[in-house]
Amino acid sequence: MKPVSRFRPGFRWDDVALEPYKPEDAHYRDVSRQVLFGADAGLAAELRYFEIAPGGWTTLERHAHVHAVLVLRGAGRVLVGEALFDVAPFDRVRVPPRTWHQLRAADDAPLGFLCLVDALRDRPERPGPDDLAALRADPERAAFLRV
Ligand code: MN
Repeated sequence: MKPVSRFRPGFRWDDVALEPYKPEDAHYRDVSRQVLFGADAGLAAELRYFEIAPGGWTTLERHAHVHAVLVLRGAGRVLVGEALFDVAPFDRVRVPPRTWHQLRAADDAPLGFLCLVDALRDRPERPGPDDLAALRADPERAAFLRV
């Protein structure tokens, strides 16, 4: 990779591809991914920039690896475990191991964020019927969740 990739309007970086979020997974809406530091960066971690378009959401999932998230753009709401949080630029979000999580952009703003993960990580797990029933036990969570 080149030493410097310029940041461009629209939250794009030179020499960084704009990728679909998870082509194999239809349980999200309007999410793009740019891998800023990937396998070729020589790290045990990867740093990605995700952007959720207004009204969109990421997959509701959990896994053993953690997410270290730093919001960079827009506004939205996140589920971490049993709790919901409104988030704004430069808020820090940590998703612990084996913790259900979902991020949603506001209806009138995107939600752009950096996400740091282990380079070697387990595959996400989606909720089963019992998991969903437990998550939906709270009305506010039930209204938030998209599956
Ligand atoms: Mn995840």
